[in-house]
Amino acid sequence: MHRRDIIKRLSLLPLAATAVPSMAEASAEQPAPKVTRDLFAELGVTKVINANVTMTFLSGSLMLPEVLEAINSTSHDFANMFDLQDKVGAKIAEMLKVEAAMVTSGAACAILLGTAASITGTDKEKIRQIPNLPGPRPEVIMQKSHRYLFDQAVTTTGAKIVEVEGPDEMEKAFSVQTVMALFFNAAEKHSIPHETFLSIAKKHQIPTFLDAAADVPPVENLFKFQQMGFDLVTFSGGKMIRGPQSAGLLFGRKDLIEAAKLNHSPHEAPIGRPMKVNKEEMFGMYAALKSYLERDHKKEWNDWLDRAKHIAGILATVPTVKTEIVVDPGPANAFPSLMVDWDRQRVKTTPQEAFKALQEGTPSIVTGGHGQRLMIGVVLLRPDQIDIVAQRVKQVLQHAM
Ligand SMILES: *Cc1c(COP(=O)(O)O)cnc(C)c1O
Repeated sequence: MHRRDIIKRLSLLPLAATAVPSMAEASAEQPAPKVTRDLFAELGVTKVINANVTMTFLSGSLMLPEVLEAINSTSHDFANMFDLQDKVGAKIAEMLKVEAAMVTSGAACAILLGTAASITGTDKEKIRQIPNLPGPRPEVIMQKSHRYLFDQAVTTTGAKIVEVEGPDEMEKAFSVQTVMALFFNAAEKHSIPHETFLSIAKKHQIPTFLDAAADVPPVENLFKFQQMGFDLVTFSGGKMIRGPQSAGLLFGRKDLIEAAKLNHSPHEAPIGRPMKVNKEEMFGMYAALKSYLERDHKKEWNDWLDRAKHIAGILATVPTVKTEIVVDPGPANAFPSLMVDWDRQRVKTTPQEAFKALQEGTPSIVTGGHGQRLMIGVVLLRPDQIDIVAQRVKQVLQHAM
């Protein structure tokens, strides 16, 4: 069947024509507002429904109305950016029960600034020279199993990564060049557990940095790691905290945050200058974090389960289709999604083909579907998109019979 036929069929099928009541009215969240100027259409950009998890290439997450309100309401006046970063940082630090905090342009920027801060401290000359400091390269210790794409944010500062496996190797890895020890919280394997990692680094008086970029929910994770003893922690602003996509949080020890700020905009020359955060994003990040902390997380979780059950109910009408609500064990993306499976003899399509049909259809829906089952993420759907996704998946599967 050609794409045009699918679109035609779609328009013939009332989307919410089902015995299951619509989810749209039940949710506290607002549906998409009416727009007077459709910039997607103006530029020919396809709107995408994200039935997966937060992904950078799919623009992260959707900002909540209170975040947009913070952005819009603060855009009509100037502010001194030093003052703003200090005040927003102090408030965030208070909210997260930590010495100091700052808003960065995402977690990757936080990793870079944290590393830079560990290298330079408040030394003006070093701040001017980094990443081209004279002498041997500074060293950052990481577990071998923690090496990941984002550690390029470490080496961008001129630092070298020293890989270790297990506590004994870590013990031996410290040298006069060592500036920091980085822990990737969502790594599949820790050859050195958090507490051991911390105690070894503390013994050598080296700052520890924990990357937990995608590790809420649960909300407790925003407090857990500073209490455990990490000197610096980062979370992305544009994942489940639902702040501006290009914002993030860096928090922890006061002296290190001060040093990180000296390496960042609005100072004019330092290494972090190309990673500027604008005024509205700072207010927006603050509003997003406040909203996230004040949310009824239990209610939100139950809402996600209701969404998954609702979609499952609609798909149950397709012969042989089986669904299962699966909670990702985390620490990244630790929330429920719906797994969909069917008898390939009856419904003659693979999860990969269904994924492609959904992505190429109208509206374009991005699910997960690279394994044996089609994965429907529910946490990023607008309330009015829940039925649309359910009906489109049903259609695609029915069409393959
Ligand atoms: C997303 C992510 C990053 C990068 O975060 P940004 O906020 O997009 O810069 C870094 N580390 C991990 C583990 C991530 O999941």
